[in-house]
Amino acid sequence: MTASASPAGRPGVTRAAGRAPTSRGDPVVRLVTRLCLLAGLLALAAMLLFPHRGSVLRGVGLPDAWLLPTLVVLTFLAEITVVRLRHGDAVEALSLYEAALIIDVLLLPPHQALLAAVLGLVAALVVQRRPIVKILFNLGNFTAAVSALIVVTHAVGGAPGTLDARVLAGVLLGSIAFTTVNLVCMAAILSIITGESRLSIIRSEARLSVYMATGTLATGLTTAEIGLHAPLLLPFMAMPALAVTYAYRTAAQEADERARSARLLELSHALAERDDLERRFLHLVRDAFDVDLAMLVLDRADIALIADAQTPGELSAEPVPHHLAAVRDADTPTFVAQDLPDDIRQLVVVPLEAGDRRFGVAALAVRGRRTKLSTRELTLLAPLANALAAAMRGSEHLDRLIEETSKLHAVVEQSTEGIFMLDGDGRIQMWSRAIAEVTDIADAAAGGRRLTELLDVPDPDEYGRLLPVTADHPRATVEVTIRRPDGERRRLRLSHSAVFSGATLVRDVVVVRDMTREHRTERLKSDFIATVSHELRTPLTPILGYLHLLRTRGDRLAEQKRQNALALIADRAAHMSRLVEDLLLASRMGDADDDLTPHVSAGTHDLAAVVRQVVNDLGTPRIDVELPGHPVPAACDFDRALQVASNLIGNALKYSPETEDVRVRMRLDDDHVHVDVSDRGRGIPADQLEKVFEKFHRVEDPMTMSTSGTGLGLFISRRLARAMGGDVTVSSTLNVGSVFTLTLRRAEHAAAG
Ligand code: ADP
Repeated sequence: MTASASPAGRPGVTRAAGRAPTSRGDPVVRLVTRLCLLAGLLALAAMLLFPHRGSVLRGVGLPDAWLLPTLVVLTFLAEITVVRLRHGDAVEALSLYEAALIIDVLLLPPHQALLAAVLGLVAALVVQRRPIVKILFNLGNFTAAVSALIVVTHAVGGAPGTLDARVLAGVLLGSIAFTTVNLVCMAAILSIITGESRLSIIRSEARLSVYMATGTLATGLTTAEIGLHAPLLLPFMAMPALAVTYAYRTAAQEADERARSARLLELSHALAERDDLERRFLHLVRDAFDVDLAMLVLDRADIALIADAQTPGELSAEPVPHHLAAVRDADTPTFVAQDLPDDIRQLVVVPLEAGDRRFGVAALAVRGRRTKLSTRELTLLAPLANALAAAMRGSEHLDRLIEETSKLHAVVEQSTEGIFMLDGDGRIQMWSRAIAEVTDIADAAAGGRRLTELLDVPDPDEYGRLLPVTADHPRATVEVTIRRPDGERRRLRLSHSAVFSGATLVRDVVVVRDMTREHRTERLKSDFIATVSHELRTPLTPILGYLHLLRTRGDRLAEQKRQNALALIADRAAHMSRLVEDLLLASRMGDADDDLTPHVSAGTHDLAAVVRQVVNDLGTPRIDVELPGHPVPAACDFDRALQVASNLIGNALKYSPETEDVRVRMRLDDDHVHVDVSDRGRGIPADQLEKVFEKFHRVEDPMTMSTSGTGLGLFISRRLARAMGGDVTVSSTLNVGSVFTLTLRRAEHAAAG
């Protein structure tokens, strides 16, 4: 073991010593001041205690005048032969300086040994351009330690001129004193910097110090002895030291390489993740190449992003410095030598290019004396810069993708057609606003659920239609009736477009159209045909029957019976004609109320007379009618008003039990006359009160189903009433009864209007 620990390389010390002393109150400055005082006292003691003492060992084949300068040079060389070893983030610097001190102390008289130690150290520190605080600390530390070494070695071992047991004991104890002083000084400064207690630092460093001291002692003693007795062997003595130094250097370089590889690996992860790309790239590259500055000058922004080793975790954005502005167009990796600022020793620049896209340049810079960058670094940096550019281009793609996706999302959300997407498991991945409205199932409730669990399909035969696609038929359109959570049924048309990988479903995009209306209209149409056929056939049967009777046995029938048969035929034929007229009228009606105007003639008629005639025509005792004793002139077409009133009263009779009366009353207000037709029938469900006025709508209840009808009466009545300037309205309570009201304008007001 020929190396010794030097405080110079310990990272904490380097940093602290590099910091300019700010005030006399700075604890580092205080410590250094005290240390220098102590060192001065110890040095004085070493010189005063043994003023005329010669060297411990004597007989080196060199003239006395040469010995001191030679050992000063040796000490200097030993100190600058530093090997730096990394321990994780810390750097341990090993030198032969302490071994040289042992040689100095053995071969020189005390005051000369002190001089050689101090001069060699100062020369090395100056050459290494150490900051002043650090020079003072090291000087104080080693002067104190070497003084202790000298005092103990001479006090115990004396100066017999040859190596005997006492000398050995003296050097041994001297080394212990040296190491102790050195360790205490180190602990003092490290505890200021790290805040750790001195004792714990001493404890953790003691073992290493003992190893170092042993190696140092052995090297120093052996070298001194060989120098005395076989100086020709001295170069051979240096060989193991050089070999070990070389081995350490290689090991240190390997450790550096490993650390760099680890950082580059981290960098490749960072590039792959594309998260916080520029910052991570700069920090990792700076640390991997162990440089002071890593910089990016991006074309898109006129700034330089700079990661500075002096502020390790930070990234600053600054206006592009002059020396970078000059090289920001570099299209090949380049060493920049011209126009560098004073504090920059080396600068390399590589372009950031991926395919035909260029993003700018990346640069590394080294401050201070040491050069750290060679073409090797440049060839490593170039592909990294390309990788960064590729990642940047990737994230541009990603940004574009995100933008496209959000546009698509907006389209999906604004589409009136419902859209949803299923994954390979049939689980919902996307559920648009429109589908949420149609199904009354919110996006939050749908996401991640299986479609087959989410939708309630009341008809078991239709359940299988929810997922109809196969690899052979990836597109399919099906119709399904679902029951919403609120109980309402909706008919949905699902148009599937699935993607398969082999036989495995990957994705299924489904466009949904609410077909409820169309479906109902379709059903109504077929119901209508059935109903109309039935309605037409019903009167036709008695007509044909009576015609047959009249034709075969007409002359034999009593006159009264013949008349009755003819009256019945006429009545049924009139009914049929009304029916046909209703159908024609309804088919002509568009959506606007005034579509009917051509079928309604304007005029003034006594509405009381209209109602009276309806009641007479219906000829049933179930109608309880109360009319004013005077005419009630209203703006109307007599026949159309008759048609409407007849429909309302007819419905009231039709949709209430035979045993219940139908009340017909007339109300007058300032402008209008109202005919209220009240019954005590089943009533109409609230949600159908408006629907009964739609074309062909019939309430689906047993009462309606057991009575004949087309679902056109109320539709036509309301349109006719509106065409006459009035309306038909309804109020109804289920299982209690309904009141249909025909409202028309009073004639005198209508005329005025
Ligand atoms: P139709 O009577 O030929 O079916 P309408 O248009 O006159 O056609 O009536 C539409 C529907 O309104 C009827 O099928 C019936 O279900 C309901 N409705 C009409 N009037 C009444 C009423 N007075 N009481 C209960 N339901 C009625």
